Amino acid sequence: MTETKFSVLCSLFTWMQRSKSSAKKSSKFRKFLDTFCHSGHYFSAIRLLLPSLDRERGTYGLKESVLATCLIDALGMSRDSHDALRLVNWRKGGAQTGANAGNFSLVAAEVLQRRQGMASGGLTIKDVNDLLDRLASAENRAEKTSVLSTLINKTNAQEMKWIIMIILKDLKLGISEKSIFHEFHPDAEDLFNVTCDLKLVCEKLRDRSQRHKRQDIEVGKAVRPQLAMRVANAAGAWKKLHGKEVVVECKFDGDRIQIHKNGTEIHFFSRNFLDHSEYGHGMSDIIIQNVLADRCILDGEMLVWDTSLNRFAEFGSNQEIAKAAKDGLDSDRQLCYIAFDILYVGDTSVIHQSLKERHELLRKVLKPLKGRLEILVPNGDLGLNSHCPSGEPCWSHIAHNVDDVERFFKETVENRDEGIVLKDLGSKWEPSDRSGKWLKLKPDYIRAGSDLDVLIIGGYYGSGRRGGEVAQFLVGLAERPAPNTYPRRFLSFCRVGTGLSDEELDAVATKLKPFFRKYEYPRKPPPSFYQVTNNSKERPDVWVDSPEKSIILSITSDIRTIRSEVFAAPYSLRFPRIDRVRYDKPWHECLDVQSFVELVHSSNGT
Ligand code: ATP
Repeated sequence: MTETKFSVLCSLFTWMQRSKSSAKKSSKFRKFLDTFCHSGHYFSAIRLLLPSLDRERGTYGLKESVLATCLIDALGMSRDSHDALRLVNWRKGGAQTGANAGNFSLVAAEVLQRRQGMASGGLTIKDVNDLLDRLASAENRAEKTSVLSTLINKTNAQEMKWIIMIILKDLKLGISEKSIFHEFHPDAEDLFNVTCDLKLVCEKLRDRSQRHKRQDIEVGKAVRPQLAMRVANAAGAWKKLHGKEVVVECKFDGDRIQIHKNGTEIHFFSRNFLDHSEYGHGMSDIIIQNVLADRCILDGEMLVWDTSLNRFAEFGSNQEIAKAAKDGLDSDRQLCYIAFDILYVGDTSVIHQSLKERHELLRKVLKPLKGRLEILVPNGDLGLNSHCPSGEPCWSHIAHNVDDVERFFKETVENRDEGIVLKDLGSKWEPSDRSGKWLKLKPDYIRAGSDLDVLIIGGYYGSGRRGGEVAQFLVGLAERPAPNTYPRRFLSFCRVGTGLSDEELDAVATKLKPFFRKYEYPRKPPPSFYQVTNNSKERPDVWVDSPEKSIILSITSDIRTIRSEVFAAPYSLRFPRIDRVRYDKPWHECLDVQSFVELVHSSNGT
């Protein structure tokens, strides 16, 4: 049998992308499978169709920005050529990137079209997989660039565009993974959900007419997690769980991690079934000692516990703390795993048991260790007390009525937690299910349309192209001034750099340049009109030495506020973005801290 050409697969992709009907997309896919994939060759094609589910090769380490640089080098372009800038600035609109702004593969396809021929390079699907294997195992940028250059030499622009989309793991074909699985084999999705192993699915289910016995979960193979359905308010949640026995739990803001223990072999699988072995340094020994079953799967959240503050650290420090543990660095912060479910004990899967029974198993199997390994099981009736006898907050309660839910929700909001999760205690745990056995109630959206007008108080130098130039800003909120006076002090609030075009950013930096003063840390303190913390993440390279000369930026944050330890204001923004520069607004109309805190509180629960 001759090997199927990659160009055939590209034609399928192009056809699917253009077609509007999902039934037609599915039947075309079927035709492709029947005509071109003879037994045993399904995986090599399907892994290219569902690249985000393929775990057989490692990660490429090529997000758009690095990929842009590698492609520029692979194509032998000068870094400041027009096309190179198009690739680097793929996200930005305007003359440089044109209509394709925001879609890296389309911008790349345009650039490639001018450099590659029309004729197919003749690669087979196997050739492409081999080259992608080489790309994933290449150890540095130069090696990656060399593999990309081979790919470019052996493909045309269309083929290379699809390869780029495969590398970025998003083909935008307008067909769900569910439909693809279903068309391949009626049991494919179920089998994938309990194994997260695409190769195994493709190999085991070659014969579409042969049904596969439902498989249970196994220690060592990631399972797709049970998910929560979003509800708008406590009343809605209560109605949905009508008549059920309900537990309400704090929704922790960390990494969803499944811990698989098989004797001394421990895996930490993320939601996307990647094995986060970096968590092993801080956690494996604890799991080996404190999980009393030899074989076990725990479901829970990985967070960072701050031993000096006696509370969880803000979201986002897991990787840093895992690395510190690896390097043996001393820190007040440590990884802490909160097990909220158990899926497997000894030789048996327990997902078919009720949550109540699984909680009992968790209690038996897991020996908690304060600030390192905790169990989330109900700790008392809400009606009686929302704190444990020790006075510490309880994170899990049985709720008897909607008022209990409301009260717990309010408490978590006040505590600035992410929200709550309600669970039916009689329910089993089902892979990839979001049908409403678990409900989530979250408070945390800044009201749409409320841009925040903040003042630039400092700047950070960029790297690479923007080396030596201010590329990000430290922005501040005003301390509320007395009526009819201007603010005198500003609290550092967040660091922001994205959202503006290069030209806009340059214009702001140039306007402020005469007022930038280098921050000679630690020789000189920050200017007295700024209130800042001593956190190194906050420390700007330059200060704006007079707020009256500074500029207001409108920033938005589409996600949420976080309690801030890095900045002087009590809350900061997660993923802030500059919306526009407010040259029209005088410096003293900067938002004040009190108004911002009110805004945060009034957004809660809506
Ligand atoms: P979100 O962005 O809201 O976390 P999501 O799509 O990642 O949503 P969902 O299934 O919708 O995931 O919400 C449940 C998520 O909440 C879990 O994946 C888990 O990471 C997190 N979580 C935190 N605390 C709990 C808890 N007590 N029980 C279940 N999930 C929890």
